Amino acid sequence: MFKRLSNKLILTLLALLLLLSASFIGFAIWSTPMFLQELNQKLNLTLADNIVKEKKLMIDHQVNQDAMQSIFMGLMLVNPIIEVYLVDTNGKILSYSAPEGVVKRNSIDLAPVKQFLESDKQRPVLGNDPRHPERNKVFSAARITQNDQLQGYLYIVLGGQTYDSVVDILESSYMLRLWTGAVGISLLIASLAGLLIFRHITRRLRQLADGMEEFKQHDFKDSVSLPARFDGRPGDEIDQLGATFREMSERIIKQVKQLEHNDKSRRELVANVSHDLRTPLASLQGYLETLLLKADSLSEAEKQDYIKIALQHSDRLRKLISELFELAKLENQGAELHFEPFSMSELIHDVTHKFQLEAKEKNLQLETSIPEEPAFVSADIGLIQRVLENLIENAIKYTPAGGHIGITLLSGGNNFATSISDDGQGIPEEDLPHIFDRFYRVDKHRNTDGTGLGLAIVNRIIQLHNSKIDVQSKPNTGTTFSFQLPSAQLN
Ligand code: ADP
Repeated sequence: MFKRLSNKLILTLLALLLLLSASFIGFAIWSTPMFLQELNQKLNLTLADNIVKEKKLMIDHQVNQDAMQSIFMGLMLVNPIIEVYLVDTNGKILSYSAPEGVVKRNSIDLAPVKQFLESDKQRPVLGNDPRHPERNKVFSAARITQNDQLQGYLYIVLGGQTYDSVVDILESSYMLRLWTGAVGISLLIASLAGLLIFRHITRRLRQLADGMEEFKQHDFKDSVSLPARFDGRPGDEIDQLGATFREMSERIIKQVKQLEHNDKSRRELVANVSHDLRTPLASLQGYLETLLLKADSLSEAEKQDYIKIALQHSDRLRKLISELFELAKLENQGAELHFEPFSMSELIHDVTHKFQLEAKEKNLQLETSIPEEPAFVSADIGLIQRVLENLIENAIKYTPAGGHIGITLLSGGNNFATSISDDGQGIPEEDLPHIFDRFYRVDKHRNTDGTGLGLAIVNRIIQLHNSKIDVQSKPNTGTTFSFQLPSAQLN
């Protein structure tokens, strides 16, 4: 029960409310008697004075017993709880209204009386209660004078009840009981309201916690079912928390998938690499061993053939390793490109020139179509040269004798589009989506001396130039690869 945030909040609220109520009631209990005493004294401020003005209570320092008796009687009738004392100038009690034996003091302290008689003093002023030596009470007092000479004091203890316990006070005060009841009911209402409000506020936190738990249960792989309010619209902190969690979980799912995919392709790569390396290596080893073992029985021409084949295999191995290395470098996140403006027309011209002899030997026509005006692009010249070489090499490789290969450069707005077309074997439709994958080779081309890495390298280079390579092909009709590069801003 105490694990729930809403319950913790409600308990905290209850504790605070109880503390507040207790201190409030405590203060009320402490201050009410003082307040009543102050009220009592203020109401009777002039009581003693009025009596002294009315009656001559002392004549020549002697108590006027008749006057005193009539006051005692009168006051007893009006208010039986007040006690009247007549004291001399030293505070000695000369006469009093209380029954014999109950008065325990012979004199009272005159200091509070004098303080009372000074106007503007803070009330209540408490004076001695002659009935109880230890107790003080509120009083009204007045000087008794004769011919401006002080004869004594009329000291009226206003009495009232004294309270020995809280229950006493509560029982004696209807208002206080009312207050306590009101505080109790407010406490109840506040607790109920707090319960509802906290439940409402923490409901979203609970939903969020449940969503997180569900996400964890599903191994951080499945998207979480969160309420629509956590969709990222501006809300309070909890909504923002929900929206951030939703975004975070989506990113985690994506990254987990990416990691799984990376792991799978890494395994495939290792399998492909080991297979592709093992085959030429085994052949190379086989030919070299044969040469060594049968050196005596082989003719010179056979030996030459064996060496040539071994060399071909070692060349294939070299090519495969260097292409793998090149691709790994390009796929590395930190692959560094050196962008510079250069003439694409010149580059195409130079690369094509390099392949003219090879094309001629295969009886292929290799032509370029380049605009007259200079075509400056901004790219990494070394890498773009590699792209052109790979694509022209492929076109020569997969186009039968008598075929035609064309390299075209077209200007279009801020870009230059380069395309390499041939009218060769073409690529079956089902293979097209895969030809840029590492080690992918169209089945019927498996026997040619390719590595299956050339197009992966081309694709990666064009990607690094923030562009895309496009392929269009039809079996027995031909293939066209094309890509665009941004024109260079020459000043
Ligand atoms: P490879 O070293 O086998 O040429 P690439 O990655 O360069 O590897 O090419 C992948 C596959 O795409 C090739 O094996 C081939 O089947 C196909 N291909 C690439 N270029 C052409 C083309 N111009 N005409 C027909 N098929 C092509």
